[in-house]
Amino acid sequence: MYDIIIIGSGPAGLSAAIYAARAQRSALVLEKDSFGLGAIAVSERVDNYPGLFGIEGYALGEAFRKQAAAFGAAFQTGEVTAISCRDGGFHVDLRGQAALEARAVIYAAGTSYRRLEIPGAQLRGVSYCAVCDGAFYEDADVAVIGGGDTALEDAMYLSRIAKTVYLVHRRDAFRANPTLQAQVRETANIVLLTQAVPVGIGGARRAESLTVMQNGAEKTLAVSGIFVAIGSIPNTDAVRGLVSLDENGYIKAGEDGVTSQPGLFAAGDVRTKRLRQVITAAADGANCAASCERYFNPS
Ligand code: NAP
Repeated sequence: MYDIIIIGSGPAGLSAAIYAARAQRSALVLEKDSFGLGAIAVSERVDNYPGLFGIEGYALGEAFRKQAAAFGAAFQTGEVTAISCRDGGFHVDLRGQAALEARAVIYAAGTSYRRLEIPGAQLRGVSYCAVCDGAFYEDADVAVIGGGDTALEDAMYLSRIAKTVYLVHRRDAFRANPTLQAQVRETANIVLLTQAVPVGIGGARRAESLTVMQNGAEKTLAVSGIFVAIGSIPNTDAVRGLVSLDENGYIKAGEDGVTSQPGLFAAGDVRTKRLRQVITAAADGANCAASCERYFNPS
């Protein structure tokens, strides 16, 4: 039995692993994909993590991982299907592997892309990762859908590769931070289409166009790549019924990671919070490891 099983290997999980291992706890990080590193791995560049200005997302995740391993955290690849309480501890079921046991769990499973559900969304050429697929669209016309930080960052990234980037947002006001909004507005080959609701993607085998409804009229853009950045959905299937979730499916937990289930703590993007950033995820991991210590040694 481990002292702590940490579910998720993004910045929250890896920070929890650093703190738990330094506290001399046996800590196992369960990661769905080998060397997963979470959403940070596909961030082209991180400009807002103090002290590491401009670092590539993957490099930052890799550094977190190395540090956790150096302090003695163990890693295992596996998909958690369910977590249950048993004999004062936790039983963690894995798909196709033996179940594991721990005294406490830090749940840092992050979020998944929200899927676009319009006709044609399954066609090739529709992507959820600009950094992964952007290079295929050199000098092409592409569209980005969404109005948050991800969509505007994707538009900036693609503007350096593609000929024209249509940024399609369903409202007038953007959620993205003002600095990014200013950068997008100053970029000559980004064309803003606001109050534009995507209604269909045309093409035989590959995407060839995106149709939007704008001011009551349909408008079709000839684009060969469509990048969807319409937010995310918390990965909470394994804890459904075990902990309280808010109306959007995030685990209800404060800065200390304490959930409705004693001994199970939530860290990173999967918990209720206002600011989902690498730095807040890393802080959550540290706080959850400290909460585990208080759980093991209540005073
Ligand atoms: P987000 O902030 O939730 O934005 C999602 C966007 O997609 C919204 O503009 C939303 O429109 C739009 N949308 C949702 N469903 C849609 C649909 N069915 N059709 C069309 N548009 C739809 O998601 P995000 O940009 O992925 O960001 C997630 C979190 O990560 C945020 O907290 C963000 O700050 C953070 N993040 C930070 C950074 C950074 O600081 N470098 C980078 C990436 C992400 P409405 O505005 O109308 O709701």
